[in-house]
Amino acid sequence: MMRRFTLPRDLYYGKGSLEHLKNLKGKKAVLVLGGGSMKRLGFLDKALGYLESAGIETCLFENVEPDPSVETVMKGAKLMREFKPDWIISMGGGSPIDAAKAMWVFYEYPEVSFEDIITPFSFPALRTKAQFLAIPSTSGTATEVTAFSVITDYQKGVKYPLADYNITPDVAILDSELAETMPPTLTAHTGMDALTHAIEAYVSTMNSPFTDPLALKAIGMVLEYLPASYQGDAAAREQMHYAQCLAGMAFSNALLGIVHSMAHKTGAAFSTGHIPHGCANAIYLPYVIQYNAKNPSALKRYGDIARYLGLSGENDIELTKSLCNKINIYNAQLNIPSTLQEFGIKEDEFKEKVAGIAKLAVGDACTGSNPRPVTAEQVEKILNCIYYGDKVDF
Ligand code: FE
Repeated sequence: MMRRFTLPRDLYYGKGSLEHLKNLKGKKAVLVLGGGSMKRLGFLDKALGYLESAGIETCLFENVEPDPSVETVMKGAKLMREFKPDWIISMGGGSPIDAAKAMWVFYEYPEVSFEDIITPFSFPALRTKAQFLAIPSTSGTATEVTAFSVITDYQKGVKYPLADYNITPDVAILDSELAETMPPTLTAHTGMDALTHAIEAYVSTMNSPFTDPLALKAIGMVLEYLPASYQGDAAAREQMHYAQCLAGMAFSNALLGIVHSMAHKTGAAFSTGHIPHGCANAIYLPYVIQYNAKNPSALKRYGDIARYLGLSGENDIELTKSLCNKINIYNAQLNIPSTLQEFGIKEDEFKEKVAGIAKLAVGDACTGSNPRPVTAEQVEKILNCIYYGDKVDF
């Protein structure tokens, strides 16, 4: 079977690498931004100065909301059709970059509807009007290098994961100065999200010789640098900015698994409040490893990860246990709970909703590449283990 491996053409990285914008060749750029932190911290002015010295005329699209809507995407695309940029530049967290990726499609193809692009890997060919440059200010989603974008239809109450190699950015700038003001809790959650991306990509049914080294290196770097980054160490924060990007390169091509399926469907399910994406992944990961390790080829791969990390164990079963222990220790250090009960989900509400959530999770786009097949009943059992902190042993 023919497969594909796609990454951005160029990465510019290092403190101050935002300056690369000076070298950009083009005429007009639309800058897509989030809530205003890039402006407040002075990075927007810096970027505009660099673009001006490159002779590029700019137009801003500001205030993309967290979990960007279809309406925001269509508004941005309309602005682009009027301004006619040859560069789309997005700077900020995952939300503005995801929104800008979708705007790009409707800028180049005004006749296409949102429904037309819901089917994965069905996008029309992009880059007939503009190239795409992404500058992330958080270290986790890696949307600056991935083929994915999540857009929410608030009328239907549905989050659509858009997927197509066409929306993999052309250029990414990894300037860790932009990520230096991330608060500790966000650093912990996004860091564990990156670890989950790398581990799920390594054991995915879509793993490949091209994604394996990226995933392993990302896992090693997250474990090496996340604790210090959480404490606010700028050098460690810089390494985390790169580690999450390596993890993104791996999962953009190898896809993910049921940790993400369950995180997607539990995130907004409970009345006690949102479970942040990275926090949910961090809680679920050790339980899913126990479940997946019943599959011999997944077990071998968890063993590979543990061997790469130098963890102790005489065989793959022991090594996989060591890997789970390691994740549990990190979660404790990062003040991440070990069960959904401890997170604060009410027991009666959990019991009432778990079967429905399990059904939705099985249908999630990430379930197909999980190394061990799973039914709704099995996901429900895993979620019960996660709620009460029981061992997954089935
Ligand atoms: Fe994620």
